[in-house]
Amino acid sequence: MPHHIFGRSTSGQLPVAVAGDGCYIVDAAGKRYLDGSGGAAVSCLGHSDEAVRAALHAQLDRIAFAHTGFFTSQAAEDLADLLVANAPEGLERVYLVSGGSEAVEAALKLARQYFLEIGQPQRHRVIARRQSYHGNTLGALAAGGNAWRRAQFAPLLVETSHIAPCYEYRDRAEGESAEAYGLRVADELDAEIRRLGPETVMAFIAEPVVGATAGAVPAVPGYLKRIREICDRHGVLLILDEVMCGMGRTGHLFACEEDGVAPDMIAIAKGLGAGYQPIGALLTSGRLYDAIASGSGFFQHGHTYMGHAMAAAGAKAVLDAILGRGLLARVRSQGDKLDAALRAAFAQHPHVGDIRGRGLFRGLELVADRETKAPFEPARRLAARIKAEAFQAGLICYPMGGTIDGVNGDHILLAPPFIISDDQIGELVDKLAGAVTRALA
Ligand code: PMP
Repeated sequence: MPHHIFGRSTSGQLPVAVAGDGCYIVDAAGKRYLDGSGGAAVSCLGHSDEAVRAALHAQLDRIAFAHTGFFTSQAAEDLADLLVANAPEGLERVYLVSGGSEAVEAALKLARQYFLEIGQPQRHRVIARRQSYHGNTLGALAAGGNAWRRAQFAPLLVETSHIAPCYEYRDRAEGESAEAYGLRVADELDAEIRRLGPETVMAFIAEPVVGATAGAVPAVPGYLKRIREICDRHGVLLILDEVMCGMGRTGHLFACEEDGVAPDMIAIAKGLGAGYQPIGALLTSGRLYDAIASGSGFFQHGHTYMGHAMAAAGAKAVLDAILGRGLLARVRSQGDKLDAALRAAFAQHPHVGDIRGRGLFRGLELVADRETKAPFEPARRLAARIKAEAFQAGLICYPMGGTIDGVNGDHILLAPPFIISDDQIGELVDKLAGAVTRALA
């Protein structure tokens, strides 16, 4: 019987997931997989959270959907209130969508419309960073700085240029302090804005902790503050993409809290749905919202399923859980334990170049040579083979061949549910160590 569904791959069959049990997914054959990456940093509450399930059932029994052209819902209003109450300063409005790419897409269009409304129509350019990923829709793809992903779809819709990422492990010069390095790379933004002409630039977008494309790389202290100053100096909007690193993943509800920076917009998604419902959100400053509200009065953008009542009710329950069950503190403590366990297993490994991250967002960089940091040949597909070996052994981890852009080593991203126990951290690291050994053999 052929399979009619296709997804990321058009070849091969995947096991059928039939049940969720805390940090585990169970397939149709009864095999259990420890979810060491929450899929792709999604499942922050595990796979069987009772409160979220109850909230979804309750909302379904009331009303599932009423089009936002006609109605709001209590669920969406409550979710927005809770997000704003816990957001960085100045972020006062919430636009609810169905995922991360949609949230970034909304950010780009809102930035564009804002400048049209305030009479600066020439501001249309976006600056992002090399190796970045901001989503797969054509606008978000255009913002992203992964050369390989971009090349296939060029010419792209949004004019974007890319500066260096903040990647201290590879790029910090010998003898340079982390702080000096952070200021030096941040100043590339200033140079790029000047090169393009500040009057043509609308926004800079970046992840505070880079997820999928780099493997949990936090910005060095001071970097984002300098970026904020540069944006302000030139009237450029700062958009932070916290689709992966937000919603408590780093131990703070918003990753940028740790950097002491409040952006003009934040895109969130994955952890907000926690896997229970597709949802994303764009938080935006009152200033941007007011310009549009008192201008044309209408954001020229929308999706049929935006503000979906069930998605909002589920997400509200997720946020209540994160905030109300002490999970942010738990992310920090379990994150420290995961970091310690990773260092115990891999710090001396000849092919592990770097172990990094914040909270329960950790990355392992694999290199051919620890001294020179030379990456593995792409043809070895090392990260993909580690993923396959781990999966075989019942562990889900998220691989990326950094060599796609020819600059990084391969890496493995870990982003387990916030409820992960000490024993499960042990299981995760043991299984990962076995998978790395077999993949290198
Ligand atoms: N931004 C970042 C930083 C992401 O990691 C992702 C998803 N990997 C997206 C945007 C896009 O989100 P989605 O897949 O929900 O569209």
